[in-house]
Amino acid sequence: MDPAKRASVGIRLEEQVKDWLRYGDELELGPYYRDRAPLHQPSEPASIETAESAPVQMAAAAVVRRAPGAALSTASAPKSAPSPKSAPAAAPAIVAPTSPPSLFESIDRIVDDTLPRIREDIGDCTRCKLHKGRTNIVFGVGNPKAELMFVGEGPGHDEDIKGEPFVGRAGKLLTQMIEAMSLRREDVYIANVVKCRPPENRLPEKDEITTCSPFLMRQIDVIKPKVVCCLGSCAAQTLLRTTQGISRFRGEWFDFRGAKLIATYHPAYLLRNPPAKSEVWKDLQKVMAVLGLQPRKR
Ligand code: SF4
Repeated sequence: MDPAKRASVGIRLEEQVKDWLRYGDELELGPYYRDRAPLHQPSEPASIETAESAPVQMAAAAVVRRAPGAALSTASAPKSAPSPKSAPAAAPAIVAPTSPPSLFESIDRIVDDTLPRIREDIGDCTRCKLHKGRTNIVFGVGNPKAELMFVGEGPGHDEDIKGEPFVGRAGKLLTQMIEAMSLRREDVYIANVVKCRPPENRLPEKDEITTCSPFLMRQIDVIKPKVVCCLGSCAAQTLLRTTQGISRFRGEWFDFRGAKLIATYHPAYLLRNPPAKSEVWKDLQKVMAVLGLQPRKR
């Protein structure tokens, strides 16, 4: 490549990097990347791929589509899902990422990470204020090789007591939803954005999410599901790094850390608003189409 062309490519790359950093700053991610302490401190050094150490691998990896605010127009799944009793629609088109690797993809990936190691790293965690009111850390449950992973916001009262996600009324509904997809609860993996119960069942706060969600990212990286299904705004906004309401992008597909991500309503919302079940069923049918599942015969 002649020197003038090389210089021009260099300037374009520099502008791209500046754009990513500006984008991260706008979302207040800067300090997270610059200042956070390593989560994993094993007896022998863990191999961590970072933006600095592995730019090539990151660039080659499947990447997160830009947050909904930047990319909703490119990732729409078909709006005409079949009725609950009909067969699932053909797999929705998932648009390949056309933008450069997102800043969000550069969250550290720990080589040879495992679920037990993540649990060990969490330990008897006091990293955020949620530890004060918890009974049990609710790590996650299910098939460690699940093709489908559900992500909720945080444990409620029943989950806190039992140490397992989605075991209350909303959990029973989630189990029914899973079974309607011809799966068993133990076939999927279920986790939350935060591992400790927020008081009064309030939503997790920003600092709590920032502190705890890296554990969830590691769980997703270890499990490597084909599909991540976010249950409710908190999970969807956390993983997609957006402040948009879930109704703006519910049922649409996004690429996320090598998986396909879809967001739907939280089962607790469905308990309060049963008519929304049909919308959720449409979303789950899209998931079934991607996973090649047929609805359970009644
Ligand atoms: Fe630690 Fe997460 Fe619990 Fe906060 S919510 S104390 S970060 S495990």
